[in-house]
Amino acid sequence: SIMPATLSAISNGARHGILFKGGMHLENLSNLKAIAFDKTGTLTKGKPEVTDMIVREGLPEQELLAAVASIESQSNHPLAQAVIRFAQKQNVSYSAPDQLEDVAGWGVKGVVNGKQWKVGKADFVGREAAFAFSGGKASELAASGKTTVFVEDEHGVAAVIALKDLIREDTKQALDLLHQEGIYTIMLTGDNETTARAIAKEAHLDTFIAECLPEHKVDQLKKLIKEHETVAMVGDGINDAPALATASIGIAMGEGSDVALETADIVLMKNDLPKIAEAIRLSKKMRRIVK
Ligand code: ADP
Ligand code: MG
Repeated sequence: SIMPATLSAISNGARHGILFKGGMHLENLSNLKAIAFDKTGTLTKGKPEVTDMIVREGLPEQELLAAVASIESQSNHPLAQAVIRFAQKQNVSYSAPDQLEDVAGWGVKGVVNGKQWKVGKADFVGREAAFAFSGGKASELAASGKTTVFVEDEHGVAAVIALKDLIREDTKQALDLLHQEGIYTIMLTGDNETTARAIAKEAHLDTFIAECLPEHKVDQLKKLIKEHETVAMVGDGINDAPALATASIGIAMGEGSDVALETADIVLMKNDLPKIAEAIRLSKKMRRIVK
């Protein structure tokens, strides 16, 4: 049966926008040592915008954008939606691709007007060619925290598109509060090393793991649990669900995907990251009352 102190703490949490799916999670939280965060949509707003586009010499920009928009029109990745918005702003018209394959964690490839295209991360189009493109401009863009997406056509790398996703206004504060509680913080992201380093620094994370495929996030959590025992994972996306389930405590952003909300043990009702530290304090206080 549930203790009165636990019950009161759960209802107190709910009044403050933290939904606990059971008293056990509240108790677990008082032992928390480390928290892993997804990047896009969790630490950041999840609404990236195109800031730069460098196109191979001799290739008309409108033609390239039309092909890229056509490929991305079949993907629901936040980066894809940002590229589409960018193309629409430039009044580029595009059709559906003839053929398409969405490769989760890598990018999208397909055929548009009989020509083969790939849109995605550096490794998807060949890492060396990607970073050699345009005199290494991609590394520079990544160093400022921008996500780089590469485009490849039948002749090789055709363009690099940079996108910036702003960190949430309360991310730094949330991380600082967690550090005050002695919690070790880690960012897990599929994004490249350079971009991840810049964002992790900006958001005050203790450390980060970059180029993390969805299935690797689960392995990283298992490793973290071995090291720190009680580890939470905070995420918002469908891709985060396996990691949320693996964590000692899964925490979902309230405006995240249904799958994330269902899988999580705790839900932050208004995407309110500083509430995590508040919940930890609540759990410690409750433990003192129960004991
Ligand atoms: P995150 O963990 O930040 O949410 P993902 O694992 O979804 O990132 O994607 C990793 C990388 O793969 C992206 O940074 C991007 O370079 C590339 N990528 C994945 N899907 C797409 C897409 N639809 N369009 C362009 N690039 C993509
Ligand atoms: Mg996400």
